[in-house]
Amino acid sequence: MKGMLVIISGPSGSGKGTVVKNLNYSLSISVTTRKKRPTEQHGVDYFFCTEEEFVYMRENNELLEHAAYVGQYYGTPRKYVEDQIDQGKVVVLEIEVNGALQVKEKFPEAVLIFLVPPTIHELARRLAFRNTEDSLEVEDRMQRALLEVQLIDRYDYLVINDELDVAMTEIETIVTAEFLKPHRSKMRIERFTLER
Ligand code: 5GP
Repeated sequence: MKGMLVIISGPSGSGKGTVVKNLNYSLSISVTTRKKRPTEQHGVDYFFCTEEEFVYMRENNELLEHAAYVGQYYGTPRKYVEDQIDQGKVVVLEIEVNGALQVKEKFPEAVLIFLVPPTIHELARRLAFRNTEDSLEVEDRMQRALLEVQLIDRYDYLVINDELDVAMTEIETIVTAEFLKPHRSKMRIERFTLER
């Protein structure tokens, strides 16, 4: 059976990073031109690259999708995702809305989940608490967050990240339910028919 492509988006500060790292699925590591934060590791959090390297990958069709976000480029390396899907795995992309909608256009069977913090005040608090961006960038990210939430209706599911355990269980439930949809279970149905 083919795997599943699950895309998780949500405003910066919605806690997406923590949620996806704790899920027991294959996590795609993006390439970005953004500067590495002190707590981040190359090859774990991102593949950090120069703008020239990014453009080279994009021009050589090595990226499944790509987008600019607050002045930096981000993209999903194609090969890892395709290999994992072929092996029947669930692959999670933690990406912003433009990239997510690009993928949905190309692969309508991709499952789009939008993750939000309980309130916009909570979002501002989480961003400020994170302390990894200067105040101008925090403001840019808040503005961007307000734009992104307007696209929630283009997503398949909305998960509110109030408590980590609850949000994770809801995402696992979505994946289970998606696998039970007839178009994904077709191979199992065909096998059953042949066995009778
Ligand atoms: P951050 O700089 O906080 O790590 O990420 C900024 C935004 O870029 C987040 O919304 C994150 O989900 C998104 N992002 C990370 N990797 C990718 C990617 O490969 N493609 C796209 N389109 N967005 C990404």
